[in-house]
Amino acid sequence: MSTTSKSSKSSTARGESVAPESAPGKTEVKAKKKKPAAGKKISPGRRQFLEFKAKYPDSLLLIRMGDFYEAFDDDAHTLSKVLGIALTSRESGAGGKAPLAGIPHHALDNHLGTLVAAGLKIAIAEQTSDPAKSRGLVERAVVRVVTPGTVIEPALLDQSTNNYLAAAVSDGERAGLAYVDISTSAFVTGEFPVADLKDELLRLSPAELIADQVSLDLLDVDSGQFQSMAVRPLDETRLDTELSGARLMEHFKVKTLEAFGCENMPLAIVAASSVLDFVADTQFGAIPQLTSLRTESTNSYMKLDQKALRDLEVFTSSIGKANAPTLFRTLNFSKTAMGTRSLRAWLTRPLLDPDDVQRRQEIVAAFCDDQSIRSRVQSLLGQVSDLERLTNRVRTNTATPRDLASLRTGLRVIPELLLALPEKVVPGGAVIGKLHPSTEAVELLNAAIPDEPSITVGDGSAIRDGFNHELDEVRSISGDVRSSLAALEADHRDSTGIKSLKIGYNRVFGYYLEVSKTNVHLVPESFERRQTLVNGERFITPQLKELESKILTARDRISELERDIFRRVCAEVAVHGERIMETASALGTLDALVSMSQAAAEHGWVRPLVDGDTALEIEGGRHPVVESSLGPGRFVPNDLDLSNSERQVMIITGPNMSGKSTYIRQAAVLVLMAQVGSYIPASKARIGVVDRIFTRAGLSDDISGGQSTFMVEMVETASILNQATSRSLAVLDEIGRGTSTYDGLAIARSVAEHIHNSPKLGCKTLFATHYHEMTELADQLPRAHNLRVAVAEEAGDVVFLHQIVPGGADRSYGVHVARLAGMPGAVVSRAWDLLDELESGSKSSSKPAGYQLQMPFGDEQASNETLDELKDLDIANMSPIEAINALFKLQEQAKRTDD
Ligand code: ATP
Repeated sequence: MSTTSKSSKSSTARGESVAPESAPGKTEVKAKKKKPAAGKKISPGRRQFLEFKAKYPDSLLLIRMGDFYEAFDDDAHTLSKVLGIALTSRESGAGGKAPLAGIPHHALDNHLGTLVAAGLKIAIAEQTSDPAKSRGLVERAVVRVVTPGTVIEPALLDQSTNNYLAAAVSDGERAGLAYVDISTSAFVTGEFPVADLKDELLRLSPAELIADQVSLDLLDVDSGQFQSMAVRPLDETRLDTELSGARLMEHFKVKTLEAFGCENMPLAIVAASSVLDFVADTQFGAIPQLTSLRTESTNSYMKLDQKALRDLEVFTSSIGKANAPTLFRTLNFSKTAMGTRSLRAWLTRPLLDPDDVQRRQEIVAAFCDDQSIRSRVQSLLGQVSDLERLTNRVRTNTATPRDLASLRTGLRVIPELLLALPEKVVPGGAVIGKLHPSTEAVELLNAAIPDEPSITVGDGSAIRDGFNHELDEVRSISGDVRSSLAALEADHRDSTGIKSLKIGYNRVFGYYLEVSKTNVHLVPESFERRQTLVNGERFITPQLKELESKILTARDRISELERDIFRRVCAEVAVHGERIMETASALGTLDALVSMSQAAAEHGWVRPLVDGDTALEIEGGRHPVVESSLGPGRFVPNDLDLSNSERQVMIITGPNMSGKSTYIRQAAVLVLMAQVGSYIPASKARIGVVDRIFTRAGLSDDISGGQSTFMVEMVETASILNQATSRSLAVLDEIGRGTSTYDGLAIARSVAEHIHNSPKLGCKTLFATHYHEMTELADQLPRAHNLRVAVAEEAGDVVFLHQIVPGGADRSYGVHVARLAGMPGAVVSRAWDLLDELESGSKSSSKPAGYQLQMPFGDEQASNETLDELKDLDIANMSPIEAINALFKLQEQAKRTDD
């Protein structure tokens, strides 16, 4: 996990300052306990720390001490390293000193982000008694434990993605995987063959993973692939299936797990119960938001591993720029956080059942067909805030008055939305889910929460006037007293004759009367002096004190009442929590579908026919991501015709840079989009559902995982040959490229033959290659065919047409491409000569006619200048030394051109 350093020596540098240590490679909190030497006296504060640390040995413990959160011992070292703050020390009793590091209390949330990103578990101990009233040691208690997978703080969460905590357990053959997002209530479990565990986890990409030892051994979590996850061992005492089942039933208050569909899945049960325990430990038992558990079967979705998601640029672009086009960005026009998260999840889980796909398509079609309805629905959705996370904050008592106002705004939209939906879109149906207007909750929120409430509760503007009689009364008393204050100010001005006398307030002295220096002599004796300033003096009077006491009492009472009322309003809204969550989920689905229809309308996509057949037939297909990079009208459409029976393996040859990779990936991207329910960039398409997309593309090292480029290539290819089925689609780019030509060709050819001939495999395959010898396969294997990318040659230059046509290519035009890339002329020229030599046995030379006279533009210009200068020399009138100098200059110039 990354460990970023922020401030250098900060305001924590109290005591003996030690420079911050360098950031650690992998952050971990050591569970070592520092035991005081027997018989030594330790300070009460130190004892309190040791007690907490004994309870939270694997957490970084932050203890509130006045205005700071402080960490001691190993935790202090970790805090200093991760945040880049000073390490100091503090007396710990009997002359001993303990390492100390601290952060100002107001900066906690900022720093929590960095600590969580470093994969740490942070236990926070707050002061639970008032320090002003405490005699001796202030009482403290650990009130929360924050971990990467269990954060709920809005500032630490990304709206567009789910934040998952996952648990994995395995018996060596099968694996159970459960995951939860406690900020949205999604709680899912499942069981599948252990071979799928790694892919499932990488696809899910949880922020935090707890796993039993068998899974940890299998997953190889120290490899770079798990870098973004905080991985922790699971408490093995909790692995008992029966106890785990009982734990789940107790939480959900049910007698059997049948309703959740996992009753016969022991590993799924243990994983789910482990997730629940971990959440309960960090949230101190209160997890009212986890009201249901869904059992997911990996058989319901197309399998897509992390390599495929990467190669198809689903969420990240190959050019690595943050805002570069990706498939997700091309499709995402969502207006709500729920919609964005739904779309993201769908792209990792394309559907397998054509009926399910068609149901989504129907709704996309309804919005595609009617632009005005689509705009109206989008504008309503744009008013809906993150209902899932807001509702969860209400249920966990962490909501603010502004959260309730946002919740109300979102819910108020529902009746209008129901009216605006097209007839075909029936809310409550299988696809959209239920959109409840939650009238009671809205009415309550309308009555209780003002239009623009304060951020916090207790300052007097969190509850609407007229909602609570007692609060109204106290507010009116407070208002009266404030008028009395104004009257008193006027009185004192009259009685003293001091026109500039004014009443002010500060936290130390309370209310006072301020008189400027020039008027102090007019102040009567009854005024009691409180403070002397440079320009004046401050006084109090008995009447002022009496009013102050009334005002402060009213303020305290208002604050107390507001808190109480606000808590009750939250509790009442929480009663509707389940229905609001159903609504939020339906809104997410609706928004994702409208988003897909917007993408379809905007980019001119068509509805593919998705069925159970095995054919993939696409006319005029375009790669959505490359097309959006190139700009409108520049992408050349291409057809695809694949089937298990006749056109199973396509060997695609063609020059470098002509579009082979784009073509084969385009096929996979369009299948993925179609199975998500989206329209696709094509003029017509029929997609027989694919159970898994395999990609083998690009040359990449896995140095941290100890694998060379070629090894990675072979491991990935082996995994395809071992796992693909006749329903799979394999997209293979340049197999055999990472080794010598003969080895590479031998491997490429045998892989293609195996895919074609093995009765177990039979997957539809697009095989892009530079080995032209591979084109012979089309003559030998009945279901193998050649495709090539057409090029035109004009005056020795290649023009890429990006058009896929039947047949094989016989040349790569690699040297042409090297020349286009700006290789020095001398290198290109030498490459032509070598190519000629290598191909000397072959019938034709690849070197373009007249190449010797042709030089790349830059060199040509330079050499012309040299020639011009040579021509201009007036040799007859030059002295020998002038001639030698001119010759030397021209030679130098010519050499530079060659370089
Ligand atoms: P290499 O063999 O060098 O890996 P390639 O043949 O696989 O090259 P691609 O990487 O697919 O070529 O494409 C190169 C570039 O050509 C793309 O980045 C894109 O800009 C452009 N291109 C590819 N296909 C098309 C197309 N159908 N229409 C227009 N431009 C295209």
